[in-house]
Amino acid sequence: MNNADALAAALLAWYDSRARVLPWRTEPSPYGTLVSELMLQQTRVDTVIPKYKAFLARFPSFQALASAQEDEVLKAWEGLGYYSRARNLHRAAKVVVEDYGGVLPSDPAVLRTLPGIGPYCAGSVASIGFGVRAPAVDGNVLRVFARLQGDFRDILLPQVRKDTEKLLLEEVLPFQRVGDFNQALMELGALVCIPAAAPRCEECPVQSFCLARAEGIEQQLPVRGAAKPRRKEEKTFLLYVCRGKVAVQKRPSRGLLANLWEFPWVKGHLTFRQAEEFVPHGTVAFLGEAEHLFSHLEWHMRAYAFKGEELCPPDGVVWAGREELENHLAFPSALRQYVRVAMKLLEEEDA
Ligand code: SF4
Repeated sequence: MNNADALAAALLAWYDSRARVLPWRTEPSPYGTLVSELMLQQTRVDTVIPKYKAFLARFPSFQALASAQEDEVLKAWEGLGYYSRARNLHRAAKVVVEDYGGVLPSDPAVLRTLPGIGPYCAGSVASIGFGVRAPAVDGNVLRVFARLQGDFRDILLPQVRKDTEKLLLEEVLPFQRVGDFNQALMELGALVCIPAAAPRCEECPVQSFCLARAEGIEQQLPVRGAAKPRRKEEKTFLLYVCRGKVAVQKRPSRGLLANLWEFPWVKGHLTFRQAEEFVPHGTVAFLGEAEHLFSHLEWHMRAYAFKGEELCPPDGVVWAGREELENHLAFPSALRQYVRVAMKLLEEEDA
């Protein structure tokens, strides 16, 4: 790449004047960097800021996190989604405490051996947390480099990622302020060289280095392979409400949304008549329909509330009150609206 040094200098100068003030930047630490990097994967910065502050207040160190119960960690993660990140962070904290004396290793190759830390996260934490000269290539960086180089290859191909990491390591990454440089690249991708809409090239600090801009093809890039269609699942959730409590169950310890809480459910969409058969001695209310999109899956949900004194929920449920729903049990975002309904029903019971 021509003028790689000048590109890095231009990007850093822009970052110095334009970087957003974010809590993980104002008081940086390897622990805070790791927490923020995991929270920021798949989640918007605005959503992460309050959750990050609350998480660090509750679990201020690897030691504090390692000694917490998994339920507490999942509850603190509520609202961020992709809960496998929280479980992995918890497991990683235990490894850091048990195997590394509570001090996060700085070598990206060692970081990658910790649960849930892939090449991007390892590079990011090593460079931002420790100043190690390591590339951190995520979707933002792939998009920026596809445009800078006028590269029409599919950015989802593993070879494109490898080539981008190699280019960064061999030519572009500066030897000073490498963490700031990696953050500047991410910031450029988030604010200027944006996805979906047209990039804001007129504001771009590296436009003079950009082949796509020079050739007027920036809106045709990057090329992304077609995503697989999502699988659809229909479910009916059943909210059994009795004596100020609602029946909840814990999801299996493996797979999607592992160890989170949910209401009992059955496959398919039950009609009102079918729902009535579940409670011969109670009342039934339809709670509406909702959809939730996961990366690979769609849930098409419907829910009914059952009220009565002789309800028979399925085996394995736990009866939870408002305090448990609000402060202790972590539910997936997909069920948030039904949790709100359950809270309301319990309030009515208490009134
Ligand atoms: Fe992206 Fe435009 Fe900047 Fe090129 S000039 S890197 S396309 S914002």
